[in-house]
Amino acid sequence: MIVIIGAGISGLTLAYELEKAKKPYILLESSSRTGGYINSVKVNEYLLEVGPNSILIDAAFDVFLNELNLSSSIEDAALVNKNRFIYKNGRVQQVPSGPLSFLFSSFFSFQTKRTIFKEIFNTSKTVENESVYDFFTRRFSKEFTQYTIDPFATGVYAGDIKQLLIEETFPSLVALEKEYGSIIKGVFKKGFGSRRRTASLKGGLQTLTNTLASRISNLSLQTKVVSVSKHEAGLSIAIQKNGASIENMIADKVVFCGTAFNAAELLQEHFSDSAAQLNKVRYAPIKAVYAAFKSKDVGHAMRGFGCLYPSVESSFLAGTIWNSSIFKERCPEDEILTTSFIGGMYHPEYSNLNEEEIKERAVAQLKKDLSITGDPTFVYIAGWEKAIPQYDIHLKVARKELNTLEESTIYFTSNWTNSISLGECIQSARNLALSL
Ligand SMILES: Cc1cc2nc3c(=O)[nH]c(=O)nc-3n(C[C@H](O)[C@H](O)[C@H](O)COP(=O)(O)OP(=O)(O)OC[C@H]3O[C@@H](n4cnc5c(N)ncnc54)[C@H](O)[C@@H]3O)c2cc1C
Repeated sequence: MIVIIGAGISGLTLAYELEKAKKPYILLESSSRTGGYINSVKVNEYLLEVGPNSILIDAAFDVFLNELNLSSSIEDAALVNKNRFIYKNGRVQQVPSGPLSFLFSSFFSFQTKRTIFKEIFNTSKTVENESVYDFFTRRFSKEFTQYTIDPFATGVYAGDIKQLLIEETFPSLVALEKEYGSIIKGVFKKGFGSRRRTASLKGGLQTLTNTLASRISNLSLQTKVVSVSKHEAGLSIAIQKNGASIENMIADKVVFCGTAFNAAELLQEHFSDSAAQLNKVRYAPIKAVYAAFKSKDVGHAMRGFGCLYPSVESSFLAGTIWNSSIFKERCPEDEILTTSFIGGMYHPEYSNLNEEEIKERAVAQLKKDLSITGDPTFVYIAGWEKAIPQYDIHLKVARKELNTLEESTIYFTSNWTNSISLGECIQSARNLALSL
């Protein structure tokens, strides 16, 4: 019997694959719902993604959605989602996306444009544990790093690029540097990788986890795992159902499909050395403010995915997604809906402010940056104390422990073991299912 802990996207996918392969399993989930971070909530006429907002669908993800009969539920993002905006010099500016617009746009200085072309001749090499910041400033320029890589890392990891490791966050770029001596040369020789489309699903991303949950038969909600220990017959899993007294179940294998700190808690007593390393994995705190405004009051055209704020710009907001510009039926037709993120590794203190202050400051900045004259028609706040795992040195060390734990038939698949994106969480879980 395989015990899976956690019914987020990783655990649900693993359970679904094991069910297909007719391997005995049980999926245990502490809360009363499935989905984990994926949480699509309808509040009045507003469809909010209280967690991840969009998926990037590549060929493998497309096949998976088709297998789940979800192809007709895919909602491709509007074409304007390809327009990305970054806050620079006090303005929300569109980032040049093609070589021509890059050349003629005033977004980057002449110096930066020159270093990008000169990257082909840059013979420097990555060193072990190099930060994302050092890698990009070494190959390109400080301005390029501050105004593209830094906001990108904020958008994905809510992270600090002086802490994130290049080999953990962009391993493919390190490989290109190694093979071709240049990223630009490598990209042109190797191609831009498989095509991926930005999308959501009708009813929000939770449609995916609800569908997976409906396809599996061995799911136990409100069942919290409290510890995992060695047993002569395999592993002993202590569980607590609905707050009742603790029971034990025996498993051949256990798979952790949640956060590193949760796993550390459960392994603490019997696998203390590994637990100590897992406990060091850092998570960025995030608050999200959902705000809608009357379209007639908004001066900015908002034809894009949203805007990211580089850390050098000292902004309260870390980034804003323009939900109604990219997906339909998110709010009333005469309104626009935005989701702004606050906190992250650069400003954890902002996420600790009281909710009223967060709302007030977020709305004030949105009104200024998007030239909005009226007050919001709707404001909602959500937050996670430990939202996104940081792909830094602590995570690298913790991941080494996974091999040791595997010797005791304890496995992991989740957003800190491979990649945080939903598509890759799915792929990792599917790969693990084959080997269990
Ligand atoms: C604000 C935010 C925005 C994001 N945006 C995007 C995005 O746009 N696109 C994208 O691709 N990714 C995005 N991500 C990342 C993505 O959401 C996550 O990487 C992914 O959902 C993680 O899924 P998981 O199944 O690995 O873990 P989780 O979703 O954390 O699931 C773990 C589950 O384990 C359960 N659990 C914990 N402890 C126990 C226990 N002791 N016993 C039983 N059950 C337990 C939890 O209740 C939970 O349901 C975002 C993340 C956040 C926080």
